[in-house]
Amino acid sequence: MRPLLPKRELLLFLVAILTPCLVLVALSVRILEQERQLEQKRRAEERHRQLAGLSQELLARLERTKVDLAFSPVSAADELIAFVGILRSGQLVLPWDENAGIRNFRQAIGRARLSGLLRQAERDETNGSPGRAVEAGREAIRVAPSPAVQAYVRLLLARALRKAGQHQESLRQYELVFQSPPDLVDEYGIPLALYATPPLLERNLRKVEILQLARALTGGRGWRSPAALYMLRDLVRKLAAPDLETKLSGLIHDREQAEVFRQDSVRLLPAVQTLEPVWVSYGNPPWLVSLTPRRQLPEPMVIAVRLGELTDRMGLSKAQVRLATNGSGEPLGESFPGLRAAVPVRNDSGADSRQKLIIFALALVLSVTLFAGYLLWRDVRRELRLAEARSQFVASVSHELKTPLTAIRMFAESMRMDEDLDRHTQVGHLDTILQETDRLNRLVDNVLDFARIEQGRKTYRMQATSLVEVVEAAAKAMDYPMRESGFRLSVTTDGSVPAVPADRDAVQQAILNLLSNAMKYSGESREIALDLSRENDAGLIRVVDQGVGIPREEQTRIFERFYRVQSPENECLPGTGLGLTLAEHIIMAHGGTISVESEPGKGSTFTIRIPLEHEA
Ligand code: ADP
Repeated sequence: MRPLLPKRELLLFLVAILTPCLVLVALSVRILEQERQLEQKRRAEERHRQLAGLSQELLARLERTKVDLAFSPVSAADELIAFVGILRSGQLVLPWDENAGIRNFRQAIGRARLSGLLRQAERDETNGSPGRAVEAGREAIRVAPSPAVQAYVRLLLARALRKAGQHQESLRQYELVFQSPPDLVDEYGIPLALYATPPLLERNLRKVEILQLARALTGGRGWRSPAALYMLRDLVRKLAAPDLETKLSGLIHDREQAEVFRQDSVRLLPAVQTLEPVWVSYGNPPWLVSLTPRRQLPEPMVIAVRLGELTDRMGLSKAQVRLATNGSGEPLGESFPGLRAAVPVRNDSGADSRQKLIIFALALVLSVTLFAGYLLWRDVRRELRLAEARSQFVASVSHELKTPLTAIRMFAESMRMDEDLDRHTQVGHLDTILQETDRLNRLVDNVLDFARIEQGRKTYRMQATSLVEVVEAAAKAMDYPMRESGFRLSVTTDGSVPAVPADRDAVQQAILNLLSNAMKYSGESREIALDLSRENDAGLIRVVDQGVGIPREEQTRIFERFYRVQSPENECLPGTGLGLTLAEHIIMAHGGTISVESEPGKGSTFTIRIPLEHEA
């Protein structure tokens, strides 16, 4: 069979639909890509702006801290400040390196008379003469020039007294030292009172006061030296005060980090000595370190600020800004070498919805185009099929007209030429002529009715009609041709089927079409049954043959106009493809239905169902 659409046309059709679709997809992809790039650019700009703002805010805050420090003394209790040092001839001097206490102590203890006595006492003590050491100690107390040195000497004396077995007196001396003010320190910056605590704790004395002292020394405003903090931590461990111990560990970590920074400062601080304010980041947890001039003093101040505390105070963590000296984020600019910041950038919901809109529009346009293409394709196929069927129809009609005409002409001629024909043969010839005329009539009726139906001009004359009579008339009309071709038509009618409003001729035409189909498609079989019965409120007219049958997939299509089942047997049978179309139209006009049950090779049953209650 020839394909309905030739390959070239099919290709053109596909190209016509698919090309715009592809162009559309390509354009949309391009637009989406541009959108994405634009969004990326916007985010980069936004991040840049935020970073610049953050850097400015941070700088303003830090510079204000510098100004505050220049006017007021710095307390070690300020959580923000890790240390404040002085840059003296390129060397970093830290607050615990030097203070008045340490300086005084060094000077006082260096005096000739005192140092002589102290050496004497220590010698006696180690040589096993604690008694003489006690003597030297008492003398030294008398000449001690300052309370700090006096306390220091008392510690030596207490130790010698203990060795000499004078425990009570020894404890009394320790008590005196313990009561000395906490800012009396030795040359390592260690408060002298601290030295007196172990012997007192040994005897379970002054526990509460010792804890008070430890607390005051840990949280005080003074900058304790690393040595003082180590000693304090040992004491706190003995006192079992975990909160103080944690605090001290933090402070010790700070001191150690500061000591390491002191070594690195030679490398780091020159970078800070610019005209622009610069804060270098250092250590872990990180500090920001900078320089600031001191009022009327040549040596600049070195300030280290705790970054964690600073971000807390500025509420940056709440704003989801993360500052760090390593890892993620972007550099915060020249004022903060080594510092990186990660700022949250808002998602542009507008861009999101724009993208969604483009994708939605694309999907819509594509599906509409493809669907329209499909509909067009279906219509074109249908039109082509119809056109083909029509051209076949013309050939079939011509062929069908020709057969009876040839027969009529042949028998008429034979009668005219042979005048001696006997009466019996004449009647036979005339019968054939009549039968062929009937067939011609039916064919012309079918074609004319079809033309009327197509133009919407077909009308039915409804009147009370007995279905029994119609069925019997149809059987009678087909009696002769059936007998001629050797068919046996068995007719059964149920007399109880009442009259219905119907167009008698039309219903008979429908039955005749079914009967002539049954003959045409009977193959070798010669048995046809026609019966009328009643089923509930309907009259059923059945035409049953045992012929070639109809494949299942064709059974719905045979009622289409011009449709004929394509098979080698059918090819040589005359037909227009209109018989069933007309029959269906007629029965539907009567409010009824026509259906088929068939199995190839076994035969077909066509059933007309006309409602008995039908109002015409
Ligand atoms: P036609 O003029 O071709 O008979 P119809 O509309 O009457 O047109 O029938 C349409 C097609 O249905 C036929 O071409 C035939 O293939 C099939 N058909 C109709 N009746 C029968 C039947 N009784 N047995 C087998 N096939 C049938």
